[in-house]
Amino acid sequence: MELIKGADTARELTARAKEIAGSLPRRPKLVTIRFGEDGSDIAYESSAGKRMVYPADTDPELFFEAFSKVNADPDVDGILVFQPLPPSISAVRLFSEMDPDKDMDCAVPENRLKLFEGRDGVCPCTPEAVMWMIEHAGIELQGRRAVVVGRSLVVGKPLSMMLLKKNATVTVCHSRTKDLAKVCREADVLVAAVGRAKLIDGSFVKEGAAVFDVGINMDADGKLVGDCDISGMEHASYVTPVPGGVGSVTTSVLALHTAEAAAKKLL
Ligand code: NAD
Repeated sequence: MELIKGADTARELTARAKEIAGSLPRRPKLVTIRFGEDGSDIAYESSAGKRMVYPADTDPELFFEAFSKVNADPDVDGILVFQPLPPSISAVRLFSEMDPDKDMDCAVPENRLKLFEGRDGVCPCTPEAVMWMIEHAGIELQGRRAVVVGRSLVVGKPLSMMLLKKNATVTVCHSRTKDLAKVCREADVLVAAVGRAKLIDGSFVKEGAAVFDVGINMDADGKLVGDCDISGMEHASYVTPVPGGVGSVTTSVLALHTAEAAAKKLL
């Protein structure tokens, strides 16, 4: 079993982003929008440009006024909104108003449609990080079985479309899937995107399978752990650690998206 850390892939993507940025007349500019004080959001945005931070009970009209300025600002290339939003802020309104070219995480309906139709366009950062890691490890997808555990709109569903586009045969599992371990054992490539500490252990993994752990959870001791217990996965071909795996690539994907959005506008 080989541990695939995210560092190499992240370095490669960051270099690509820098190369694109270096060819532009100004630095690419990203704006992040966060409601509340979620620790993992704050860690993710620390590498980002301008931050818009609002209390969870913010006045929707005041927020949308500020948002429309950023959305129309020609010096802003990308916008990333941390979700979930507070109940007073309509996600439907926010993402239908957002400029599709500034959508860094494929949340605008037009961009989601492209993804689900298999057309080229921006992809959500986390599933894209998984795809880059698969490519970096040289794992073949065509004709192989991929099982994605989790069907959220930010990870599981878009990732399943991205795997399909690479001609994998994809199964999506969720909280009502029966005999999850049995379905997972069919996978050549298994992706866990659930949010349950150590839900997936070695008994879910076929000999030689590659396992990608998207989960970010705190265990009882306050330690960051994934959805997978990799201690019993010696028979896997590859596994990703948490921390230092998929999550560490996501920020570089975001930087690449921002550079690409700036290049699309400025070149
Ligand atoms: P979510 O809560 O929106 O979705 C979780 C999914 O898991 C649901 O589709 C649900 O049906 C499924 N599920 C729940 N319990 C299950 C069970 N017992 N068996 C099978 N399926 C089950 O979560 P999300 O936003 O998709 O995030 C998933 C995980 O990935 C979380 O731990 C989150 O923190 C992490 N995450 C990591 C990154 C990153 O950059 N690494 C980014 C986004 C999310």
